[in-house]
Amino acid sequence: MPLYSYEAEDAKKSCEYCRNGFTIAQSLKDEKLAHCPQCGAPVAKVIKAPALRHSQTDLHYRAKRAGFTALKRVDKGTYEKMY
Ligand SMILES: [Zn+2]
Repeated sequence: MPLYSYEAEDAKKSCEYCRNGFTIAQSLKDEKLAHCPQCGAPVAKVIKAPALRHSQTDLHYRAKRAGFTALKRVDKGTYEKMY
């Protein structure tokens, strides 16, 4: 089942459960939540980008920024510095 994240629309009218957001498994047939299941405060759907997906380019970029040296294997036993 897909996971959906919701967060209280108004932090003042929220409980501990929805104040910082919660994630709930819902089937596609289910209607989206409008209210917190715990306190009934209005909640809004939060779109979260998948956190653990990085492209190769991004990883290289991060490594470079972190000061790592990436070695590319160019031939048997030969490595070339990429940066
Ligand atoms: Zn709540």
